[in-house]
Amino acid sequence: MTTPLRVLIHGASGRMGQALLRLAAENEHLAVVAAVTRRSPAARVVDGVAYFAAGELAGVPAFDVAIDFSLPEGFDPILALCVERNAALVSGTTGLSEAQRSALQAASEGIAVVWASNFSLGVAVLAELVERAAAALQGWDCDIVESHHVHKQDAPSGTALTLGQGAELGGATPRYASLRAGDIVGEHLVQFTGLGERVELTHRATNRDIFVRGALHAAQRLVARKPGLYRVRDLLD
Ligand code: NAD
Repeated sequence: MTTPLRVLIHGASGRMGQALLRLAAENEHLAVVAAVTRRSPAARVVDGVAYFAAGELAGVPAFDVAIDFSLPEGFDPILALCVERNAALVSGTTGLSEAQRSALQAASEGIAVVWASNFSLGVAVLAELVERAAAALQGWDCDIVESHHVHKQDAPSGTALTLGQGAELGGATPRYASLRAGDIVGEHLVQFTGLGERVELTHRATNRDIFVRGALHAAQRLVARKPGLYRVRDLLD
C-alpha cells in the first residue's frame, strides 16, 4: 500500500469541515494530520486527529495538502502556510476579496492550488451548458437565482458568480437574486427569457457530501501536479 496523503483540514468544526473529517476517515489513501478550528478546540485529539486553533498554525505537523472550507478571514493565513510549507491547497471558501483572489493567483506560481465555488460535478457541467445557452440566445434576459440555508453569509453565492462568468463568456449580461431560507443546501437556477419563451437550467444539491467528495478527489489529484491554479474540471480524471 502507498503512503497515505497527509491532509490538513482548515475550518474543521464547520458543516463542511465535519463532513470532510468523516469522509476522509473512510479513505485509506488519506491521513488527516491536523484539524484547524477558529477557536481553541475543546479537545486536543478527537478520533485520532490532532486539533489546533487558527492562532497555532505555525505549530501544525508536516502535511501534503490543506483543504480549506472556512471563512474569508481565515483564508490568508492558510494560504501563507501552504506557500511556506510548499504544500498544495484545495479551497472552497467563498466570499474572497479581489486582493485574496490575486494572492491566490500569485501563490499558484509556487504551489498547486485549486479554488472552486462549487466542487460538484453537476455544477461543472451546468457552467458549460450556461455558456453554450448564452452564446445561442443572444439578446435574451439572463437571470441567476440562488437559494441557500439561512446561515450562509455571502450573496450572491460564489457558484452563482461562477455561472455568471460562464454566461458573460457566452455574451449575456446576468442579473442576480439571492434567497436565504431554512436548510437549503444549494440551488442555482439560470434563466434565459426571450419573447414568449424561457429556458431554465437548474442544479439542486440535496446533500453537501457531493462537495466533500469533489474536494477530496481534487486533493488526491492536485498533489501530483506542477504549481498552478487549477479548476475542478482539470482534475476530474
Ligand atoms: P461553517 O460556518 O459551518 O464553518 C466555518 C468554519 O470556518 C468553522 O469551522 C470555523 O471555525 C472556521 N473559521 C472561521 N473563521 C476562521 C478563521 N479566521 N480561521 C480558521 N478557521 C476559521 O461554514 P460551512 O457551511 O462549513 O462553509 C464553509 C465555507 O465553505 C463557506 O465559505 C462556504 O460558502 C463554503 N462552501 C463551499 C462549497 C464548495 O463546493 N466550494 C460548498 C459548501 C460550502
